[in-house]
Amino acid sequence: APKGGDTAKMDSKAAGMNPFVDLVSSLRTAWVEGKTRTIEHRISQLEALGRFLDEKKQHILDAMASDMRKPPFEVELSEIFLVQNEVNHALNNLASWMKDKFVDKNLVTQMDTAFIRRDPYGVVLIIGPWNYPLQLILVPLVGAIAAGNCVIIKPSEISSSTEKLIAESLPTYLDKDCFAVVTGGPEVTSQLLENKFDYIFFTGSPHVGKVVMAAAAQHLTPLTLELGGKNPCYVADKCDPQTVANRLVWGRCFNAGQTCLAPDYVLCSLETQEKLLPALRHAITEFFGPNPQESPDFARIISDRHFQRIQALLGSGRVAIGGQTDEKERYVAPTVLLDVQPSEPAMQEEIFGPVLPIITVANMDEAIAFINSRERPLAVYVFASNNKLVHQVLERTSSGSFGGNDALMQMMLVSLPFGGIGTSGLGSYHGKFSFDTFSHHRACLLRNMGLEAMNALRYPPYTDRKMGM
Ligand code: NAD
Repeated sequence: APKGGDTAKMDSKAAGMNPFVDLVSSLRTAWVEGKTRTIEHRISQLEALGRFLDEKKQHILDAMASDMRKPPFEVELSEIFLVQNEVNHALNNLASWMKDKFVDKNLVTQMDTAFIRRDPYGVVLIIGPWNYPLQLILVPLVGAIAAGNCVIIKPSEISSSTEKLIAESLPTYLDKDCFAVVTGGPEVTSQLLENKFDYIFFTGSPHVGKVVMAAAAQHLTPLTLELGGKNPCYVADKCDPQTVANRLVWGRCFNAGQTCLAPDYVLCSLETQEKLLPALRHAITEFFGPNPQESPDFARIISDRHFQRIQALLGSGRVAIGGQTDEKERYVAPTVLLDVQPSEPAMQEEIFGPVLPIITVANMDEAIAFINSRERPLAVYVFASNNKLVHQVLERTSSGSFGGNDALMQMMLVSLPFGGIGTSGLGSYHGKFSFDTFSHHRACLLRNMGLEAMNALRYPPYTDRKMGM
């Protein structure tokens, strides 16, 4: 066979230049042998994942306490329960998901069988971020296993205790021929990405998303990108300020604001801002006491770099609530900023911390125009006691998901797809959507060998008689 550039590159890798060639090739062997295709194997691996969550619960709690002082309740809800729920859902539905889907036929194919087979892609790479360091690796993994793939997972190096736990413990539960963990940062990930995968699932920043997409393009590998951005929250006049404030503070301060889906900033009228401010102050005190630094229910910022980044954002507008920081602990108090200009840093980058700017607008039209003038976010939120207003914002904006009168909760349903649009992402997952994401939908038509005389109508020569039919 002729040796093109690609083949030459593969040869140099095979000569040992890329450290992951052997790993990828051993997983490919397992894939070709069909090990992960059987329903029994998929079930056994999903059950093993469930056992990992159950038996290593304390280790998971400890690792996340060490990484970012994540409160145990938040770990149980957003890291353990969420994954367990996905495991159970996949186990309960796997047999029906895997069934071929028979489709409508036309006159010519009446005697035949036409169906969609959900085929596994093959060898999949899952790359995760640090903010939900277990969930954002394991929920995609549930989908990849359910769909019958072999998988390499690459957790974030920033959440190092969780990374260590995943690397040391998870492989003892899963079939080592088919599933592997790779640890390391950008350099390691780049080396991994030089290899040919059959599907890549990336969760992280839009900036790195572009790097991953460019690497995938080299092999024409399909991918899902779960990215971030600034999620706007419009609060209409005349809704109960305390209910709004409770839900906003919970959504903004869960995991100390380090949540891709968190409400990033509020848009409301000056009149609503005046009612909302004391209600926000009240909610913060109710949730975290007079000094949130002493609350066991408030996490810390993941790294010095992110601490400094968030601290710098406090210079946008003016601090109306909170604003205290403690570098030693990487603590940033729940903070509300007022009078922030759209051009200031807090309105230019994803905040990813417990800081909520409020921007005043004259009315809902202005809020919608503001939202639509920016990149399409992972979520748009609206609080309004009048349902018509909720629907108007839904109709006139675009985002990965939409939340009416609450924040974050849309991600708790396995029946809803989770994903972004535009710069907030490409593709979606959770529940059956994960299974579909990690499956190639193979179009199959099995024809009948009989009735050849009828088939002859489409064969040349295309006589006048055939043309006239
Ligand atoms: P990140 O993009 O810096 O890192 C994500 C992963 O990519 C890590 O595993 C990291 O090791 C790797 N990586 C980093 N730089 C790389 C490079 N140059 N080349 C190759 N790989 C590289 O993201 P992060 O800081 O870990 O996470 C925060 C971001 O993730 C935020 O933007 C947030 O909105 C987003 N996020 C999105 C979702 C979602 O579901 N849409 C969920 C959580 C976080």
